[in-house]
Amino acid sequence: MNKRIIVGNWKMNPASFKDAEKLFVDIAKSILYIKKTEVVICPPFLYLDRLKKISRKIFFGAQDASYEDSGAFTGEISPLMLFNAGVKYVILGHSERRVLGENNVLVNKKIKACLRAGLRPIVCVGEDTRDENHGYFNLVKVQLEETLAGISRNLISKIVVAYEPIWAISSTVSRHDATSAESLEMAIFIRKILSDKFGPEAKKIRIIYGGSVNEKDALEFLKNGGVDGLLPGRASLDAKKFAEIIKIAESL
Ligand code: PEP
Repeated sequence: MNKRIIVGNWKMNPASFKDAEKLFVDIAKSILYIKKTEVVICPPFLYLDRLKKISRKIFFGAQDASYEDSGAFTGEISPLMLFNAGVKYVILGHSERRVLGENNVLVNKKIKACLRAGLRPIVCVGEDTRDENHGYFNLVKVQLEETLAGISRNLISKIVVAYEPIWAISSTVSRHDATSAESLEMAIFIRKILSDKFGPEAKKIRIIYGGSVNEKDALEFLKNGGVDGLLPGRASLDAKKFAEIIKIAESL
């Protein structure tokens, strides 16, 4: 079995380093006991470097990266800079970036650049609605095929796929909860696409679930959702809730 992973996506929060530090320290203090679970926090770029000095138990992730290594790209942060700052993971293709114009081709370039730099991409896929004809399966298939095009088999174990149905994410207006059965069905589907594409090596790709996960439903998703981990957004901004999710993952 793959090592379980819990990834907290802080998005564009909190507004000050002081608050970020408090949140981080509170989380770090409450998970000193963990042994089995990989805990990743993805704070805003600005806080990464300073937070890194606080805990050795927690790994860092960025919320995006450029597909270029260096050069005249105003406002961008390169994968190499992230790697050199001690970052291990990078969330790529998050739906909140896709609404800003990011598409599968761009995400594919970013994945390749991150792998080149030694980072581990957390590739987000997921549909915005579920239609009666189950067209959302095809949408996820296309997202996987296009974002993972041309990635060599020997690097595939570095990738984490996050299934994040947009209709379940906390920032979606009139959102609703996904069930563990919906997660399971999609995780099986994703696993099949990955093994068709990459062969037995695909077993090493971790599939995680994200979409308003909290301390109340984390157990259900981890036990019955067919996933190797979770990607909480809002719940990762509450040290108690996030620590509880990690405790649940660690208990399994
Ligand atoms: C996310 O940011 O990927 C996410 C799933 O957020 P939330 O848990 O707030 O829905």
